[in-house]
Amino acid sequence: MRLDGKVALITGAASGIGRESAILFAREGARVVCVDLDAKGLDATLGLIPEGGEAIAVAADVAHAADCQRMVTAAEKHFGALHVLFNNAGIMDSRDDDAVTTEEAVFDRTFAVNVKGVFLGCKFGIPALRRSGGGSIINTASFVAVLGAATPQLAYTASKGAVLALSRELAVIHAREGIRVNALCPGPLRTELLMKFLNTEEKRQRRLRHVPMGRFGEAAEMARAALWLASDDSSFTTGSTFMVDGGITAAYVTPE
Ligand code: NAD
Repeated sequence: MRLDGKVALITGAASGIGRESAILFAREGARVVCVDLDAKGLDATLGLIPEGGEAIAVAADVAHAADCQRMVTAAEKHFGALHVLFNNAGIMDSRDDDAVTTEEAVFDRTFAVNVKGVFLGCKFGIPALRRSGGGSIINTASFVAVLGAATPQLAYTASKGAVLALSRELAVIHAREGIRVNALCPGPLRTELLMKFLNTEEKRQRRLRHVPMGRFGEAAEMARAALWLASDDSSFTTGSTFMVDGGITAAYVTPE
């Protein structure tokens, strides 16, 4: 088991990548703290944890400092330590558009969750990782952190660029303390988040044209990548822009 003895905190665990990661991490021996705004969804995730696995749910908004402090405290209180911090919660507002059209409130909330949420997770999580002798932080960015799209989602794109920059700097700051920090950059996935945004078949096909593999990724595929970053298998990997994207960022022209 690749996470035996480790305690992992995963935000956004009520759905998509976070849920699949909670299930996989528990299967690999981790005790998991599942965090999300959506308490019902968290219950459903706990119901999917394989028998023998240990997990608790903490309903919290990662955009609020007190909530982030509470989730880290819960990890240490219930499981005695924290070794893996997966800052994965994120939003993409369907009203997110170009600079002219996007409302200031949409921009602000996107940054509050996607960027400040990662910052706050680290603010309270890093002292806990220090107390346990080191660990692994995984921040979910996106392929849009390095590529621009003509289908505008400006606040989201900017927020993911910020997550990538923040992750790199954290990796450098904390490298000598045994804390690794990597940015997981998923390509377009067949999860609720993206399917709500690409809400017509035409929009979906337009996006798929840019993916060499010609399909959307699955949340479970991101969970497997996150598992590698969480485990000691990736012991010399820090500060990486970890692309798991079906080749989208490698493509200039895609196959017919
Ligand atoms: P998802 O919508 O299935 O899951 C996101 C989860 O985050 C939800 O359960 C939601 O309730 C939770 N959440 C939202 N705001 C929160 C908050 N303030 N506090 C706590 N929890 C909150 O989406 P997903 O695809 O699994 O997304 C996970 C991450 O992957 C996000 O950061 C997203 O930006 C990123 N990502 C997704 C794609 C994609 O194509 N789906 C691509 C690249 C990156």
